[in-house]
Amino acid sequence: MTHTETLAFVAAGTTLCADAIAGLDEAAFAAPSALPGWTRKHLVTHLAANAEALMRLLHWATTGERTPMYSSPEQRNADIEAGTLRPGADLAHWFTTSAARLDDALAAMPEAAWAAEIVTAQGRTVPASQIPWMRAREVLVHAADLGTGVTFADLPEPFLTTLGEEIRAKRSGAGEPVGELAGSLPDVTAYLAGRGTSGVTTTDGAPAPAPSPWL
Ligand code: ZN
Repeated sequence: MTHTETLAFVAAGTTLCADAIAGLDEAAFAAPSALPGWTRKHLVTHLAANAEALMRLLHWATTGERTPMYSSPEQRNADIEAGTLRPGADLAHWFTTSAARLDDALAAMPEAAWAAEIVTAQGRTVPASQIPWMRAREVLVHAADLGTGVTFADLPEPFLTTLGEEIRAKRSGAGEPVGELAGSLPDVTAYLAGRGTSGVTTTDGAPAPAPSPWL
C-alpha cells in the first residue's frame, strides 16, 4: 500500500461519511448506529474527535513534542458523550471541518517527519507514516457503521484486502487465529472486523463462529 493509495482511501472514506451524514435529520442523528450502544451522534463525534486526535499525532511527529491522541480513555469517552448533547448539524459541521483540517495537516507534513515515532491510543509505537492508514480505517469502516446504507461492498477492494490481512495478523498475535473462510471479500472482511457473520461460513459450509470485537 503506497502513501498515495492510502491518502486516496482517506478521501474516499471521508466522502462516504460526509454524504451519509449530510442526509441525517435530528431524529436520524439520535437513532442507533450499527455499533452497540452508540447512536449516530456518538459515532460522528468520535470521527471528528479522531481527526483532531490524529492531528495531535502529526504535531508530535513534526515537532517531537509529545501530544497523545487523547489525554486518557476516560476523557475520550466523556468527550464522545458530550458530543451527543449537541445538535446534529453542529456535529456534521465539526466532521467536515475537522476532516478538512486533517487533510491540510497531512499535506503539510515534512517528508522526514513520516519516519518519526508516535504512540497510538492503543499504546502501540508506530512511525507517523501509519497515521493515514489509521484514518482510512476509521472513515471507511465507520461509514458502514453509520447504518445509512453503506456496506463493506461499497469500500475499495484493496482496502478490504489490506484490512483483512491486518486483522488476521492481529487476531493471530492475540492467540485467536481465524481459520479459512468462505464468502465474498466484503462479507469476510466485515466478519473479521466483528461486523456480523452474514454471508460467511467455514470452508466446510458450517456457520462461522462470531469473532470478538475489533476497533
Ligand atoms: Zn473508531
